[in-house]
Amino acid sequence: MPVINRIADFHDEMSVWRRHLHANPELSYQEHQTAKFVADKLLSFGIEVSEGIGGTGVVGVLYGDRTSERSIGLRADMDALAIEERNDFEHRSMNSGVMHACGHDGHTTMLLGAARYLAETRNFSGRVVFIFQPAEEMGGADGGAARMIREGLFAKFHCDEIYGLHNWPGMDVGTFAVKSGPMMASGDSFGIEVTSTGMHAAQPHKGADVVLTAGHIVVALQQISARNTDPLDALVVSATQIHGGDAYNVLPNTVTIRGTVRAFSPNARAAAEPALRRVVDGIALSTGAQCTVTYAQQYPTLVNSNSAAQSAEAAGLSVFNKVETNPPQTMIVEDFAFMLEDRPGCYGWIGNGPDDNGRILHSAWFDFNDEALPFGASYFATVVEQQLQ
Ligand SMILES: [Zn+2]
Ligand SMILES: [Zn+2]
Repeated sequence: MPVINRIADFHDEMSVWRRHLHANPELSYQEHQTAKFVADKLLSFGIEVSEGIGGTGVVGVLYGDRTSERSIGLRADMDALAIEERNDFEHRSMNSGVMHACGHDGHTTMLLGAARYLAETRNFSGRVVFIFQPAEEMGGADGGAARMIREGLFAKFHCDEIYGLHNWPGMDVGTFAVKSGPMMASGDSFGIEVTSTGMHAAQPHKGADVVLTAGHIVVALQQISARNTDPLDALVVSATQIHGGDAYNVLPNTVTIRGTVRAFSPNARAAAEPALRRVVDGIALSTGAQCTVTYAQQYPTLVNSNSAAQSAEAAGLSVFNKVETNPPQTMIVEDFAFMLEDRPGCYGWIGNGPDDNGRILHSAWFDFNDEALPFGASYFATVVEQQLQ
């Protein structure tokens, strides 16, 4: 069974909304125009709106035509990235240096489409909570999901279960992927400051060489996943930045390394930090440099509950041409994981079509595929109609 006909009927209108949002991207916690656009649309559908939850977050509440105590939360993210768009189509970003390169314009539009349909039909019991979240890209405890929860999202708007979606380049439009259990990784960040007195490049014996020390550290960090955690537990340790030095003939006094650690299992995640500190301390001891480590847990693992994953699969089978029920996990992190720590629910991926020509997430050539809009909107609406009968 394909998308809901009544939603397909306003596909063109959803495309206009999506392109408007794409042309007017806003960074995390600056989604003022986006939030206003969302709130105005929800109000025009006859949905109760609360604004300013978690900064620029917007929540809509809609009751079905039958009473019940049950409630379902549906969530979309609204923020864009600090990327200069390279596309030259008509709906390209009008905000220099800001771009919807992760497709949150599409996510927001799909949820608005579902809201419009559900408000027109109300063929469900209980309550739907539409959650438009800011600052997904900021993530961590400062990100939009954690902040909305801190500011009372689920206390004020109880949700028995919550559902969210992310577009997935490389998956055909009309395809949906979901699985129960861990689907996306936990994400932690680290910083290592390597210091010494610095010295003439020609007199390396006059102090500790922080460049050499940093080099040893970057290489040795790879032994953590190879030798310190269970090989059956996936772990990625990536040093992503090295900064230090200003002159070719000076050994500097500081080199800074930064990076990220990704895992699925609590054991691998817990083992990584002490192993990293041990590696750094041991190398510092061997070269004589001073090393200071900072380590922060940023994102929990995204874990779908069994029952919500089954509900998502059932809705997916009603709407999509194809449902993948055991997609490969990804080491990418997602802020929705904070909401899934708080409430049971399910996150799924919706096909965005080919990932060629830069149509990948966080690329300056990315664009959400408007053909996916009725699929995502129908999916959200179907979850509600099936679970709130
Ligand atoms: Zn992103
Ligand atoms: Zn995203």
